Amino acid sequence: MRNRSLLWKIVLPYLFLMSLVLVGIGWYGGRALTRFFVQETTQDMVMRTRLVNQNLPRLDSLNLTEKDDLCQALSTETATRITLIGPDGTVWGDSHENPELMDNHADRPEILAAQDNGVGTAIRYSFTRELDMLYCAQTIVDESGQVQGFLRLAVPMENLAGALTATRNTLLLGGLVFFLVVIIVTILIWYHVSKMLENITAATQRWAQGDLAYRIRVPDEKEFHRLVLALNAMVGRLEKSMTQIRQQHNEQRAILTSMSEGVIAINPESEILSINATARRMFGVSQPDVVGKPLESTIRNAPIQDFLQAVNQSEKPLEQEMVILDQNRYLHMHGTPLLSDDGQRIGALVVLNDISQLKKLETMRQDFVANVSHELKTPITSITGFIETLKEGALQDEANARRFLNIISEQAQRLNTIIDDLLTLSSIEREQDRHRLNIQSERVRPVLESVMADYRHLAETKGVPLRLICSSELTAVINADLIRQAVANLLDNALKYAVTRKGIEIRAEQNGEKFILSVTDFGPGIPEAHHDRLFERFYRVDKGRSRKLGGTGLGLAIVKHIALAHHGQVFVESQPESGSRFIIQIPG
Ligand code: ADP
Repeated sequence: MRNRSLLWKIVLPYLFLMSLVLVGIGWYGGRALTRFFVQETTQDMVMRTRLVNQNLPRLDSLNLTEKDDLCQALSTETATRITLIGPDGTVWGDSHENPELMDNHADRPEILAAQDNGVGTAIRYSFTRELDMLYCAQTIVDESGQVQGFLRLAVPMENLAGALTATRNTLLLGGLVFFLVVIIVTILIWYHVSKMLENITAATQRWAQGDLAYRIRVPDEKEFHRLVLALNAMVGRLEKSMTQIRQQHNEQRAILTSMSEGVIAINPESEILSINATARRMFGVSQPDVVGKPLESTIRNAPIQDFLQAVNQSEKPLEQEMVILDQNRYLHMHGTPLLSDDGQRIGALVVLNDISQLKKLETMRQDFVANVSHELKTPITSITGFIETLKEGALQDEANARRFLNIISEQAQRLNTIIDDLLTLSSIEREQDRHRLNIQSERVRPVLESVMADYRHLAETKGVPLRLICSSELTAVINADLIRQAVANLLDNALKYAVTRKGIEIRAEQNGEKFILSVTDFGPGIPEAHHDRLFERFYRVDKGRSRKLGGTGLGLAIVKHIALAHHGQVFVESQPESGSRFIIQIPG
């Protein structure tokens, strides 16, 4: 019932009302028409009676037969029934009946009315004619004003009824045609209106499905014209707002996705509102859609859960550091309560910074300071110790004094070497940072030959043959001084730690896009456990032996920084007892 169409709700009741009105008008009109016709005919009869009356001859000179004949004659002329009645009601003559058979007419209403007013009319059934008749009677008056008798004219009501029926039929037909036209026009209007409403409904359905670019064709009808214009304008604004919102959303998502910081937002019920890719990576969240899911089941990490809860209850921003132990990662968490425009709490937001690298650098810096202090302290302790010994009288003992001075000189030399290595390292780093390193295409062989020349004497003394494998044509984009320093450090190590008759091989070659420089020895090798840390500052496999051989623990760190300064890398291939190969790889 509730969903009945416009046809049922408006059009049919309207047509029903229309038909009621038409029937009403017909009924009332019919009555008015009948009344009008009767009035008109009565008036006409009165006029006719008066005319006939005026033209009547003197009746007292006529006998009954002549009176009857007069009736006949007048009837033919006036196309009415004519009756002449005496003052006492006796019928003298009648155009249609035999007066001798007719009753006394003194009691007839028209005669009674004529007696009183001079003229009288009546519509009644005529027993003589056996049909409804309209009668009009007038007194016949002589010159002295004496009533001579009555003249009565009558017409059958049949004629009137016939005329009335014909008129009524015409009106009925007209009414029917009119009603039919009303029905057709109403249905056409209804069809037109419902078509437009359907168009609007279809459009709103398309809008509801997201097709906001769709517009309704603007109709000509004023009301629909304004409605459709308003709807189109509304959806236009909606489309614009949606585009803006979508754009903002995309921008926001792009920003969140590309952020190196992790971002997590939750609502007061601790359900995820937003989590970006970095935060997902940090906590290993792999489920595709976690928005609306509880925080506890999404991120199984107690510190972040506790922190978010704390921010959710806090009035002001909070900060904290946390560590993800299994990943050895340090995170800095900055949490802010989320408030709506009207100051209502709508959740909490946390921004996570991975500070593992910073922590590592911090640790490295602390380790480095500790290592440097330690490295410097050993020779300084030794120097001060021997100076104290000398001061306390050992100077007198010339042999010992000389030995002590040699040791002091050695330790001072060692200090010098450490400081030289540290300065070398820091200058490489500084120049690398400032991009001031002078790198250019160089022929490699002369660079390597010059290093070998420096170490040839030492190698020969130790009985270690040096071999160079390098094409004299080979060129590489390098800083010759730094490469010389790197190869010298590697060669120095090989001559310190891997002295064998099999010798040392220095090899340089171009391998595809890479320039590869390696120093191979056939000495004791280095256990794999040390490979990762070998290039760290002050890292030594065997501390005592290294110190004894004059090592600072900085040689390989310098090699590594030289490789990095060339945007390359250094690594070692080594197995215990089968020698070591240190490889510098520089992109060609
Ligand atoms: P150091 O000044 O002690 O030589 P490096 O950084 O040059 O410092 O070397 C670090 C450690 O690596 C050395 O202490 C040594 O134990 C080991 N090492 C370096 N080169 C070799 C090699 N060719 N054979 C075996 N061990 C080596």
